[in-house]
Amino acid sequence: MKNILLPLTFLLIFVVSCNKTKHEKMNNPLLETFDTPFQVPPFEKIKAEHYEPAFDSAIIMAKNEIKTIVENPSPANFENTIEALTYSGILLNEISSVFFNLNEANTNDTLQEIASIVSPKITAFQDEIYMNEKLFERVKNVYSKKDSLDFTAEQKTLLEYCYRNFVRSGVNLPAPQKERLKKINSELSVLTLKFGENVLAENNRYKLIIDKKEDLAGLSQTTIDAAAETAKEMKLDGKWVFTLHNPSVTPFLQYSSNRELRKEIQQAYINRGNNNDSLDNKKIISQILELRIEKAKLVGYANHSEYVLTENMAKTPQRIFDLLNKVWKATLPVAKREVEDLQKIIKSEGNNFKLEAYDWRYYSEKQRKLKYDLDEEQVKPYFKLENVKQGIFTVSHKLYGLNFKELNNMPKYHPDAAVYEVTDSVGNHQGILYLDMYPRASKRGGAWMTTFRSEYKLNGNKVSPVVSIVCNFSKPTEGAPALLTFDEVSTFFHEFGHGLNYLLYDVTYPGLPVPPDFVELPSQIMENWAVEPEVLNMYAKHYKTGEVIPKELVDKIVKSGHFNQGFATSEYLAASFLDLNYHTLGQLPENFNVLEFENNAMKKLGLIPEIVSRYRSTYFQHIFSGGYSSGYYGYLWAEMLDADAFEAFKEKGIFDKTTADAFRQNILAKSGTEDLLTLYTRFRGKNPVIDALLKRRGLK
Ligand SMILES: [Zn+2]
Repeated sequence: MKNILLPLTFLLIFVVSCNKTKHEKMNNPLLETFDTPFQVPPFEKIKAEHYEPAFDSAIIMAKNEIKTIVENPSPANFENTIEALTYSGILLNEISSVFFNLNEANTNDTLQEIASIVSPKITAFQDEIYMNEKLFERVKNVYSKKDSLDFTAEQKTLLEYCYRNFVRSGVNLPAPQKERLKKINSELSVLTLKFGENVLAENNRYKLIIDKKEDLAGLSQTTIDAAAETAKEMKLDGKWVFTLHNPSVTPFLQYSSNRELRKEIQQAYINRGNNNDSLDNKKIISQILELRIEKAKLVGYANHSEYVLTENMAKTPQRIFDLLNKVWKATLPVAKREVEDLQKIIKSEGNNFKLEAYDWRYYSEKQRKLKYDLDEEQVKPYFKLENVKQGIFTVSHKLYGLNFKELNNMPKYHPDAAVYEVTDSVGNHQGILYLDMYPRASKRGGAWMTTFRSEYKLNGNKVSPVVSIVCNFSKPTEGAPALLTFDEVSTFFHEFGHGLNYLLYDVTYPGLPVPPDFVELPSQIMENWAVEPEVLNMYAKHYKTGEVIPKELVDKIVKSGHFNQGFATSEYLAASFLDLNYHTLGQLPENFNVLEFENNAMKKLGLIPEIVSRYRSTYFQHIFSGGYSSGYYGYLWAEMLDADAFEAFKEKGIFDKTTADAFRQNILAKSGTEDLLTLYTRFRGKNPVIDALLKRRGLK
């Protein structure tokens, strides 16, 4: 978890593959074998008009594969039913992964329109599989022997997952209810897409145009240069433009001494999707919630949370509320003390206004300077993006023996993306990695990892992964290379942790999901290395002089680790509670009003007015258009694991080979293939405890 304004460390999981036996169709690169190095998608050859026909063909192919399973005259067994089902639809998955990844990272109106057409089609196809009673008969048949046959742990997990998936998808429902469920799924697929499109349009719509130099007071030269370049791109030469993209809005809120302008941009930020116009998301939220409740009830759950959580490590809402409440209790007093500290600074400057939410980042930066003599601008020159990347590569090499080599002339979906071949300690191919680092109008905000292809075995042969990390980091300016804030550095390590998970995956079957409360363990644990003095010495070098970051600066960074944690933890917890409050509703109250619900939830929690939930409802993409509905708590749950897990490294040494091997074998390579707590305790030798988390956040 990161203390940045838009820490959308969001994970998309698409299970894809490259099946060499797929149909050859002329003139549609999506339907031909990818004739590219490492069979990455042939991005330059794929045109928008290829998607729809490719989806249609792939769905027909997948339907035929299902038909073959259903009509198989042989009695059902693991191979001819569960395995066959798992390996079906591979082409469809492959096309989906290309299309939906690009719709996130490099979209346009045409792709968005195609998404709204193909999403319901894919949803309908999935329903057709998982509501197919004949197919379920075969699955049930195999499932009934699950304890008597000699399955591997992964096979057993797959079998149970597969069985549950049918039941959860409504296979046992009478026909009219099945039809209703199909309609709900179809509507949800469109509504969740629309939600995300509105947020993207809102991110791109707002501009704070500054034409007087005095309105730039407080801002660093790098920030001013970046704003001048944004203005130039918008044909507003000679002016300065700030946007709601993270690298633009964050430094403005941290450093601009113009309180009115801070208020203006912060209000724009927290009202995205809440402007009562065509981009407003309030009605969409009500519709999504209503449909999710109806769906949960149809398949036998009290609410959406209960429906989701049976698949997560936490299992029940109560266990999550217990964790959140425990941390909330420790956090709120800290946040209140922080308010007092910031109020004191305001007073010491001769002002007597009350601290507002749009003041927080500005005064907390001052506080950081006062308390730790640490200025973000002083640190940034040591975090040249290129150096940070090399640092992450080195950490990955020291821990897991991986090597990274940039490949030129590889297919790319945007010139900004860089491509690397990843090899293991003896030089064997491990996977391909795409890095796409800078914001643009066609890219969703935040940072995430995704795959164009996940690792699995096909006929015993390894299908190697194609992993992609997409961020919105500070860009280079005319005078300087891309220099990261420490939050951005942490985000990079975080997403890279997801990347390592998927690069080091070593599973047999495609498609086993990893829930948010476990999947954030490999990512969050990587953030720990970013701040270790031994590691900082390796990568934090001044971009001009090459000088290694001075020890006193490292000390200050380490010492300030607990800084502003009342704020950071509160805003995160507020969003987590909001998510659960929505999704534990058993029915939508009459005259349901999103803003009123959100306000009441925050009031009930006791959130202080100086802090705004990290995501307000109308731009909370994790839960309304991503895969984290009733799962936003997952960052904290996983932090309990990662803080506890990193203790193991601290005990033995942060590059201890045995610990790294155990983490790799039990967590990175196997996540999803077995009971998650079992995997964890196999690595750690004991159950996780919350102590390390509280200590790390300075809450204990
Ligand atoms: Zn993450």
